[in-house]
Order: sequence, then structure tokens, then C-alpha cells
Amino acid sequence: MKSVPLFNNYIGGEWVPAASGATCENRNPACYDQVLGVFPRSGPEDADRAVAAAVRALDSWRLAPAPKRAEILFRVGEILIRQKEEFARQMTQEMGKVLAETRGDVQEAIDMTYYMAGEGRRQFGQTVPSELPNKFAMSLRMPIGACGLITPWNFPMAIPSWKVMPALVCGNTVVLKPATDTPHSALNLVKALEKGGVPPGVVNLVFGTGSEVGLPLIRHKDVRLISFTGSTAVGNTVARECVPGFKHHHLEMGGKNVIIVMDDAKLDLAVDGAIWGGFGTTGQRCTAASRVIVHGKVYNEFLDRFACRARALRIGNGLDASVDMGPSINENQLRTVEEYVRIGLDEGARLVCGGRRLSDGEYARGFFHEPTVFADVDPRMRIAQEEIFGPVVSVIPCDDLDSAIEIGNGVVYGLSSAIYTQDVNSAFRAMRDMNTGIFYVNASTIGAEVHLPFGGTKQTGNGHREAGQAALDTFSEWKSIYIDYSGKLQRAQIDT
Ligand code: NAD
Repeated sequence: MKSVPLFNNYIGGEWVPAASGATCENRNPACYDQVLGVFPRSGPEDADRAVAAAVRALDSWRLAPAPKRAEILFRVGEILIRQKEEFARQMTQEMGKVLAETRGDVQEAIDMTYYMAGEGRRQFGQTVPSELPNKFAMSLRMPIGACGLITPWNFPMAIPSWKVMPALVCGNTVVLKPATDTPHSALNLVKALEKGGVPPGVVNLVFGTGSEVGLPLIRHKDVRLISFTGSTAVGNTVARECVPGFKHHHLEMGGKNVIIVMDDAKLDLAVDGAIWGGFGTTGQRCTAASRVIVHGKVYNEFLDRFACRARALRIGNGLDASVDMGPSINENQLRTVEEYVRIGLDEGARLVCGGRRLSDGEYARGFFHEPTVFADVDPRMRIAQEEIFGPVVSVIPCDDLDSAIEIGNGVVYGLSSAIYTQDVNSAFRAMRDMNTGIFYVNASTIGAEVHLPFGGTKQTGNGHREAGQAALDTFSEWKSIYIDYSGKLQRAQIDT
């Protein structure tokens, strides 16, 4: 029998176990009796040590020229490219999504690493004319300090990279606390950073739960910024915990995303988008299209085609190239999906396909659920309002574009929305009026690229964005500088 590998935290450049010696297992959601590895179950003392290491490393890292910091990131990008396939396979094993998607996850980390490495020679500030003679005025970015990064399991390498890479290129040091369900992908990223030459203490990795590692990180007086991606409920706690210490806090949270299908849409294209948006990553994307609002004139035809395609999806282990959709991440998440199916039925929605947990034969050892479509959904129903994070899509009829936009905006979240139409006027009106951070025309709600801002409105975010130039605003602070070379006291606003 193959022995189970044992992994450690990475603190101050050393791979060390949890101070308490406690551990927890990393299991395969497609086959939960398979233990993939044993990871530290760390506690507050490990978080403290990691923060101390990040604080110690801060001065030398922030004083290293940004292009030199970036050279290291370029090397990290090369390592990620070389190990992409290996990392993708390990990711599929630990969190279930199909190999094509885990390759995409690693690719996103590669893209982000290169993009942020490019920022080593940019990070543009401003020079502006002074209102006084012989005076020079400019602004430049400063690092914030030691940052705590708390990440979810659904993009287990991409999301840590969205935080680590901009933080590092801006001159911060970090402590990463990944989700307990996906430790290996975070470990792979940090190993690549170590191999690429990131100095000891600049990146620290502490495995453990939200309450035992996440909260102590947030409460630590020396952590100046918390960047959190996860559920809105936990984000709320993070925000409240950050307030007393006036900590920067960047929150990326839940979604209830929507595709609008107008009567002039290319229906095949819209069905492709709804299938990909609804069932890609088993519906476990923050940008998953869990609502589809369809114009009455094409409602029945869309629904028939959509349900037919959903029924045909092949479900199974994501390492099998013939599989379209993998398992839910764990038993709890699967129970949530089952609970929402029951809620949908109780609310009177029409179950068109799916609706059952799969537990026979090859499915017996995993957390599998059928792709599920509810039709004739009233937008006020809980299945149309709350984030399910599973393979359940609500199809909602509408009369026209105005009502579609009203229904689309009628949720507490505001991450991603899409419209399928051939009418440029409809596309532009929806683009203007949908209150979401991301919007697509004739494409699904998923598919963000690393060089534009990523994030959402309302209860999805708190006004910050990841990715693109916007990420630099999250991970740096502006310093405005005035240099007076007049040789005398000059008073702004007074000496005119
Ligand atoms: P989660 O909120 O349960 O956990 C996220 C992270 O927070 C994990 O690392 C967890 O251990 C930690 N955590 C939990 N409780 C904590 C606490 N009290 N203090 C500090 N840390 C704590 O979310 P999840 O189940 O891992 O991920 C799914 C959620 O993430 C969904 O709501 C999804 O929409 C959201 N998500 C959002 C985005 C985005 O960019 N908007 C991207 C991916 C996922």
C-alpha cells in the first residue's frame, strides 16, 4: 500500500509542523476513502509565528527594487508552466473539478504571475504641476505591510495567486491561509514561490481552519491588511473583526449570477453558455449562472434544449477525460444542494431534470449530484435568491428586457451577469443597468481574464477589486510627495 505523504507549514523559509503536532487529512471528494495527504492542523501560535516571520522579512523585501522582486515572479511563472499538468491533476484529486478546468485554474495562476511580474516595471504614480513656483509634486505607491490572505477551495491555486502576486510585487509580505479542503494546491503554489527564489519570510503558509488560524490572523495587531475570498457570511465576520484595528480589508464574496436570454438570442449559443455557467465546476463558482431569465417567446424552446443538454452531462471523477462534471466538494456542500432541491419543490418550482444525489456504483464513494434544472421559478423563491453553490439552475420566465433587468438585479449579490441577444440596443441597456461587477454579452457569466478588475457589488464585495490594475490599489497605499526647491517658505492655498 502507498504511504500517505505528510506535509508541513512554511514559516520563515522553513517547512515545519503545527506547534501542537495536530494534523488533518486531505481527501478526494470523488472517492472519499482516498487520503491524498496529511496536513498540519495549525493554531494561533502558528499564525503568530508566521506573522512574526512576515514582519521580519518586510524591510528587506520592500526595499528590494520592484523590478528585482518581479524577476522572481517571472521565474515562478516558468515553474508553474513546467508543473502545470502535475498541479492540475493534484487539484482535480483534492477538489473534484474536471481536468480541463483544473488546468485552467493553474493557467490563471500563471497568467496572474506574469501580469503582476510586469508590474515590477510599472506601478505608475502621478507627477502633476504644483500650484507654487519651484515646487515638484508626485505620488507613488507604498506597500501596506504584512498581509493575511484567506482563500476558498473552489479556485485553490488561482485565488491564492490573485492575492499573493500583487501583494509581493507591491512590496508586501504575506501569510496565506488556504481552505482546509484544498491544501495541496496552495502548497504547490508556495513551493513554486520558494523555488523561484522568494526570500524566507516573504511568503508564509499556514494550514488550518478559519477559527483556529484565520481569526487569529485577522486579529493580529501586526497584520495590516486582510484579503478574504469566501462566503458573504464569513466576510461579514472578517469585516467586523478588522474594524477595531482599522485594518485594510478586501472582501470577495458570494454571488447569485444571472444569464438573460432575449427572444432574438441565438439559442444554441445561449444554451451552451447556460450549461457552462450552471454546471461548470459543478456549479461551485462564485460566478456560476444559477439563474437564467428567458423571454416568454423562446421560453419553452430554450428550456427543452437546456434540460436535454443538462440530462446528457456525464458525471464522475474529474480525472476521466469523458466526464463533464465532477462531485461537490464535501458532504456538507452536497447536503446543502439536497436541501435546496427540497426547498425548490416545497416552494412550487417545477423540477425539469435532476434533483437526486447519486450514490450507486461508481458514485458510492463520492459526493455526486445530478445536474438539476427548475423551471417556472418565481424570482422571490429562495432557490432564485440564495447562493446554492451546486449544480442547480433556476429558469425564470420574463416578458421583456425591463422585467429581465429588474429580476436580474433583484438579489442581494452583484458579481456577474450576461445577456444573449442580437440587438445592440438591448445589449447596451443591460450593460448599463445590470448592477454587477462583471457583465458579458453573448457569453456566459464565467470567463474573467486576469488583466481586468474582478469583483462584485452589493453583498458580493466591499468596493475593492482583484486582478488588473485594480489589484494594485488593494495591495498598496498612495503617498503624495511635495519637493520645494524655492529655498523659502511657500504656503499652499495662501501664497498665490
Ligand atoms: P468560506 O467563507 O466558508 O471560507 C473561505 C475561507 O475563510 C476559508 O479559508 C475558511 O477556512 C476561512 N474562514 C472560515 N471561517 C472563518 C472565520 N471565522 N475567520 C476567518 N476565516 C474563516 O467559503 P468557502 O466555502 O471556502 O468558499 C465558497 C464561497 O466563496 C462561496 O460563497 C463563493 O461564492 C465564494 N467565492 C467568492 C469569490 C469571489 O471572487 N467573489 C471567488 C470564489 C469563491
